[in-house]
Amino acid sequence: MTSASGLEGRGRLRTTTIVIGAGHAGLAMSWCLAQRSIDHVILERGEVANSWRTERWDSLRLLTPNWQSRLPGYGYEGDDPDGFRTMPETIAFIECYADAISAPVRTSTEVTSVRRSGDGYEVATNRGVWQCQTVVLATGACNISQVPAVAEAVPSAIATLTPMQYRNPRQLADGGVLVVGASATGTQIADEVHRSGRPVTVAVGEHVRVPRVYRGKDIQWWMDAAGVLDERYDEVDDILRARNVPSLQLAGSPERRTVDLNSLTSIGVKLIGRLAGINGGKAQFSGSLRNQCALADLKMNRLLGTIDEWASENGYDNKVSPPHRFEPTEVEGSPPLGIDLTRGEIRTIIWATGFRPDYSWLHESVLDHKGRVRHDGGVVEAPGMYLMGIPFLRRRKSSLIDGAGDDAHDLSTHLASYLGHRTSVPRPERQVLSR
Ligand SMILES: Cc1cc2nc3c(=O)[nH]c(=O)nc-3n(C[C@H](O)[C@H](O)[C@H](O)COP(=O)(O)OP(=O)(O)OC[C@H]3O[C@@H](n4cnc5c(N)ncnc54)[C@H](O)[C@@H]3O)c2cc1C
Repeated sequence: MTSASGLEGRGRLRTTTIVIGAGHAGLAMSWCLAQRSIDHVILERGEVANSWRTERWDSLRLLTPNWQSRLPGYGYEGDDPDGFRTMPETIAFIECYADAISAPVRTSTEVTSVRRSGDGYEVATNRGVWQCQTVVLATGACNISQVPAVAEAVPSAIATLTPMQYRNPRQLADGGVLVVGASATGTQIADEVHRSGRPVTVAVGEHVRVPRVYRGKDIQWWMDAAGVLDERYDEVDDILRARNVPSLQLAGSPERRTVDLNSLTSIGVKLIGRLAGINGGKAQFSGSLRNQCALADLKMNRLLGTIDEWASENGYDNKVSPPHRFEPTEVEGSPPLGIDLTRGEIRTIIWATGFRPDYSWLHESVLDHKGRVRHDGGVVEAPGMYLMGIPFLRRRKSSLIDGAGDDAHDLSTHLASYLGHRTSVPRPERQVLSR
């Protein structure tokens, strides 16, 4: 990428704001800072869109439709607004954005430490030390796969993989696969692996069921139109809980397939309860499968009810098909509570048990006992430090590509006022620069 602004002399490099991470969130922030003429650089350990290049499986497509990848000053103008981008298309999209906004990215620059220094921060990297007044942490919410402690007890004959290590079914031994987790990642990988001829069992804990299409329109369209995705962090009753809700059970495919537990059992995938422990080579599963599924069905119907209400109030009832409900999740009479992992029935375990951020390089006392950054809607509990791109940061859509624009606008306003800048910048219009 292009060389950054900033004064370079001998010793420390200087700039006003350092943005760490050149994913879409860091780039959206860069656009907002540039609008306010705030001198800044983006430090990126890999290349632009590094997470999408290096940490995702081959067949993954965005689960948000093309029209929904809106970034400040940038939107979709192709002929497939309802399609779902592949990984190469997603990388190209984010790269084009970085080019279009001339983002001052320094690639191959890994931040190894951020510390308070004077009235700003010292940001150490593998390519020198920077001094700045304000810092934006845009390093992503999914740097590390969360693997439960029971993984330690898996018999050594069984291969284990995280979704960040999984690329495609050809990597796996023939034979049974246990996928632990039934959110977007778990259900998509289970679907692909089972279709490859390896019998899959999914251990199902808490999950969020939604249909891909409802009343003829994409579920993301409904949630966007009805304002569900715009719900703010200071409007929900329990923001800590809201930030930990699993991802929607959704997949993007040209056929607009719903990938949920019913679609999985219809192709022969077996469902089992939440993995509770492994003892003497035997995996034990919770008896809560039926309840977990009933709860997910109930919550889905509540969401569909909200959508129906909004559709009626906004004159959509005559424009779309009538309200309906989906079959409840089918669960077999008494699912097994154990699998003997020493029998050879399961050859691989995939831990689709979530992701978490990595702040091991952040040497400021802003982390809570669980290693999460303490912040109020992205304004970190350290002067001049900001956070982007984590679930429900400021809005329900914050971790989506579509959520970065509004968050970057709000946080750059705060940052500018912290710096004493007076310029006010209107919320960005969705000006289209490229496909
Ligand atoms: C499997 C999966 C599927 C998803 N699907 C969708 C989807 O369909 N639609 C959607 O809108 N969202 C989706 N998301 C969510 C969301 O878009 C991602 O979490 C997204 O990557 C977050 O954007 P970001 O810019 O905050 O972080 P990232 O894209 O992760 O960017 C962070 C950047 O920071 C860099 N970095 C990290 N640490 C350092 C360091 N110490 N020094 C320098 N650089 C560093 C990384 O290399 C990376 O480039 C998905 C997420 C996952 C995990």
